[in-house]
Amino acid sequence: MDFQKPKGTLDFLPGTVEKWQYVERKAHDLARRFNYREVRTPIFEYTQLFQRGVGETTDIVQKEMFSFQDMGGRNMTLRPEGTAGVVRAYVENKLFGEPDVSKLFYIGPMFRQERPQAGRYRQFHQFGIEAIGSVEPAIDAEVIAFGLQFFEDIGLKGTSVEINSVGNTASREAYNERLLAFLNPMRDSLCKDCQNRIDRNPLRVLDCKVDHDKFADAPSILDSLDEESLTHFEAVQRNLTAMGVAYTINPRLVRGLDYYTLTAFEFKTQSGIGAIDTIGGGGRYNKLVAEVGGPDQPGIGMAIGMERLQLLLADQQTEIDDKRPLDVYLIALGEKASAEITKQLHALRKLGFSAERDYLDRKMKAQMKSADRLEARYTVILGDDELERGEIAVKSMETREQVTVKLEDLASALK
Ligand code: AMP
Repeated sequence: MDFQKPKGTLDFLPGTVEKWQYVERKAHDLARRFNYREVRTPIFEYTQLFQRGVGETTDIVQKEMFSFQDMGGRNMTLRPEGTAGVVRAYVENKLFGEPDVSKLFYIGPMFRQERPQAGRYRQFHQFGIEAIGSVEPAIDAEVIAFGLQFFEDIGLKGTSVEINSVGNTASREAYNERLLAFLNPMRDSLCKDCQNRIDRNPLRVLDCKVDHDKFADAPSILDSLDEESLTHFEAVQRNLTAMGVAYTINPRLVRGLDYYTLTAFEFKTQSGIGAIDTIGGGGRYNKLVAEVGGPDQPGIGMAIGMERLQLLLADQQTEIDDKRPLDVYLIALGEKASAEITKQLHALRKLGFSAERDYLDRKMKAQMKSADRLEARYTVILGDDELERGEIAVKSMETREQVTVKLEDLASALK
């Protein structure tokens, strides 16, 4: 029987994982500087949360969720995105009772049954932030600036952000009418999905990958914004400018999730990953908290796809600090020496050194090669003769110089 990983998933092996850890360290550090604190929510939730939170008319809910019944017959779904779960946790744990805005971040796997391609998988990872409890445009700008700063911190080049406003409820209703007037005459020429979307949520149509080109002359949502929506959008832009953040306005940008209100944005890459040029996105969700049973609290967030970042970093040959050199490799020659090496190895590890030995009973030369492969800074060699004298040889792998020290002085010599 041959086993293979499920379609659309990836194995990350040592050598690659260090690159992920590097990006994750940068994520944690940036979150600390921006005062976002980590939250960890379940990988699966009740299906209804996503139907409610992400929206019945979205591609995600209609055809991409990994859903199953648990043994009690309850409908469960592997989370397709992070926001719904975080907002559920915010409501359930009454974080709205805290005096400050809840600024939270998460890093973890998400699941969508999409057709796999470069940069699109069925299990993928997102780094996301959510700021819940403020309507201030300054926080919209902060969330956008956070994303761009993250790309800068990890050394990714050629990124940019497109912003838009999808308006408040009133603006959206006004826009839907104008959009319908534009779409109805072409209804029959649109793809099946779009024909569905027109009736359920016409805004979604603009997001269609098939018919995209047909909507070049569609009315702009920006012309339908009411005063509240427009004031907010302009203030977001003023805040971005104040931070020196460059952006472009894309009035076609609507995002794939139903919960957005007012600000919506997407992070783009110049270089692209195959046909894909989006590396993250987000927006404001002023109705979502109430939608999942909480008080009427506004929120805004964004999420960045980690696989896409890794592909781009590799493509751009970004210098990544992912080396994990070993402090010391211990070589035993002879049986008695082997027992002593076991003792020394453990003592060094307890003291904080990274240390390794041979477990394959190999000859000295093969062990030296191991030490080289592990990029050991020092090799320590113990034969039965030295052991009798209570001594041990310490060799610097950099200078190739070797000295002999007392066994009990080994740790201080290595320091
Ligand atoms: P979304 O919320 O769908 O806009 O997703 C936000 C980001 O997550 C995207 O810009 C991608 O970087 C990443 N992402 C979404 N879906 C996938 C997927 N199937 N495979 C890999 N990355 C994804």
